[in-house]
Amino acid sequence: MERILYLTHTEADGGLSKVALETLTSAVELSRQLSGSTLRLALWGGAIQTAADAVAGCGAEETLGVTGEEFADSRYASDAAAAEALVRAADATFVIAPASARLARTLPGVALRVGGRIDSHVVGMGAAGEGVQIQRWYYRQRMLATMTRSQRPWFVLVDPGLFETWNGEAGSATPRLVEVDLPTPYDRTRVVGIEAAKSQAQTIRPDADLLFVAGAGWTKKQADGQTHVKDAEELILGFLDSAQASLGGSKSMVEQSAEGEDVLSFMSHLNQVGQTGSTPRHAKGLATCCHGEEPHVVGWRFIHERRAINTDPNCGWAQSKADVLYVADAFALTAKVNELLRG
Ligand SMILES: Cc1cc2nc3c(=O)[nH]c(=O)nc-3n(C[C@H](O)[C@H](O)[C@H](O)COP(=O)(O)OP(=O)(O)OC[C@H]3O[C@@H](n4cnc5c(N)ncnc54)[C@H](O)[C@@H]3O)c2cc1C
Repeated sequence: MERILYLTHTEADGGLSKVALETLTSAVELSRQLSGSTLRLALWGGAIQTAADAVAGCGAEETLGVTGEEFADSRYASDAAAAEALVRAADATFVIAPASARLARTLPGVALRVGGRIDSHVVGMGAAGEGVQIQRWYYRQRMLATMTRSQRPWFVLVDPGLFETWNGEAGSATPRLVEVDLPTPYDRTRVVGIEAAKSQAQTIRPDADLLFVAGAGWTKKQADGQTHVKDAEELILGFLDSAQASLGGSKSMVEQSAEGEDVLSFMSHLNQVGQTGSTPRHAKGLATCCHGEEPHVVGWRFIHERRAINTDPNCGWAQSKADVLYVADAFALTAKVNELLRG
């Protein structure tokens, strides 16, 4: 019989992040599928009551908590101590946590401390007889493995964008507070502020509904024989701002700065989508001035609806890779869309 523990930290406002709420859905679904299992919640942070109340209707037997100023910030020593205390107090056999940066950094060490095992980037979970099986991708999202483990406790970090955000009834929870044995000193690391990775524009938004990919065509000579990089920057930033979309780039685009060509100032290797880039998860994707070659398109595996704009009707997107291909000038089309969005 699995004793399932849903484990997460709270955010600065005392609530839960989107990925934490998605992961709660996966934990609730698993506990319903797994006969004889129990589900507990464990929260830690500077404040936990708002979060505990918000998810009080999820059907968990009990909510455990660790709270206090020393647990507000992301810090390995205090996070690991809190998570370890909660896992031990719940006597958990299966620990489900969202893949936030904070948990991804902390939980592997916690699993080691309690003699467990951990799997990261988990994309699916289900009952297998009386046990659990999980799914994760290997070899850059090419092979999907279904796995089980006998070692307990078994920790899983669930990737974002896979489950519906939990939106059940709120209520009034009374968390059982758990004592934490903090190491001395526990606060050699202090958070003094948060600085965004980008100085000019925050362009990577994992929670956005839409991925906007800019290919190298934006910086190439256009019909008038000139490049229009400044216009491209304005159009792309205007679109991202209005649509709150996330920005991806092709390899050719992100590598241009290294090759000394005119570049989009806000584009970096972090934006690269594809075989040697990222594989983001968004409901929709729009590729602009991007040829749609296979090493790029493999990064679109988890984009549900794909559209592309290209002046070339024979570009890669036309070869069954996009649901819709607009054969058009992306400069003119993006300008028109921006005008409509502003309106
Ligand atoms: C081992 C390996 C790994 C790779 N990994 C990746 C990866 O991770 N990600 C990746 O992206 N690539 C990767 N590549 C490179 C990939 O094969 C392509 O070279 C790259 O994706 C091409 O980028 P692009 O489509 O932006 O540029 P281009 O091929 O130069 O295409 C530009 C496009 O813009 C269009 N265009 C120009 N002007 C306009 C306009 N005004 N309106 C509309 N369309 C216009 C053109 O018609 C053209 O189709 C990899 C290659 C290899 C060999």
